[in-house]
Amino acid sequence: MSRKIAFYGKGGIGKSTTQQNTAAAMAHFYGKKVFIHGCDPKADSTRLILGGMPQDTLMDLLRDIGEDKITVDNVVRSGFQGIRCVESGGPEPGVGCAGRGVITAIDLMEELGAYTDDLDFVYFDVLGDVVCGGFAMPIRDGKAEEVYIVCSGEMMAIYAANNIAKGLLKYAEQSGVRLGGIICNSRKVDGELELMQEFTTALGTQMIHFVPRDNMVQKAEFNKKSVVEFDAECNQAKEYAALAKKIIENEMFVIPTPLPMNELELMVAKYGLID
Ligand code: ADP
Ligand code: MG
Repeated sequence: MSRKIAFYGKGGIGKSTTQQNTAAAMAHFYGKKVFIHGCDPKADSTRLILGGMPQDTLMDLLRDIGEDKITVDNVVRSGFQGIRCVESGGPEPGVGCAGRGVITAIDLMEELGAYTDDLDFVYFDVLGDVVCGGFAMPIRDGKAEEVYIVCSGEMMAIYAANNIAKGLLKYAEQSGVRLGGIICNSRKVDGELELMQEFTTALGTQMIHFVPRDNMVQKAEFNKKSVVEFDAECNQAKEYAALAKKIIENEMFVIPTPLPMNELELMVAKYGLID
């Protein structure tokens, strides 16, 4: 059986980058079979795996050829190390509800049997920190069983993470979703490691890995590749391999205990005094 994972976190924090690199590391270093379902209307969840090739999204195909003609073969693309990819896409900007598109896309993939049993991991890459409507669907309806929150020592990233934890707490009972940990995607903030450790402990979870900020990410991105594909020997590729291994071996799945706003403010303020 495959493990179904979703990454949540503030917009721009590095969800898509971290997810694609972790998926690439799982496939490349550990021989895992991986599927990435991009649920962001920007459709940028799989480009580092597919070499930047623009692909028809599910929403595009629904509009262009209609639901009856959609098959796994004409919508799922295979990329680096055989990683299978699909993008939900979205409505034209300003028209219709993007969250609704996520629901349609996941339902359709399930109906078509795209998430096959030979897969070790299915990733859902969702948009930002929106935990309402369609964007909450992966955690609300039990589509994703494990959530990792991508965070950094920046205040707004921590607020977003705490809000996502509130969403998880709300849906955990009915859907069975659990928090597998917080991934710190470093922004080189003072006291970041200590703050992340204190924050994750307060949430009742773990900081599963501290991913350094590294220009190799941009270099690989310019080449339309994950760091793992671009240079599997470099330090940053080893960091993603370490994160991949920790997720593969993870056994800590919790219902988080989000912090009341005043406690969160006090926690963050302590670290604001460091110079
Ligand atoms: P999200 O999916 O959360 O909106 P992205 O994954 O698109 O965020 O990340 C935004 C940008 O941040 C990426 O284009 C990438 O260049 C940069 N980035 C992410 N993680 C790192 C890192 N560890 N080191 C350097 N740059 C990073
Ligand atoms: Mg993204």
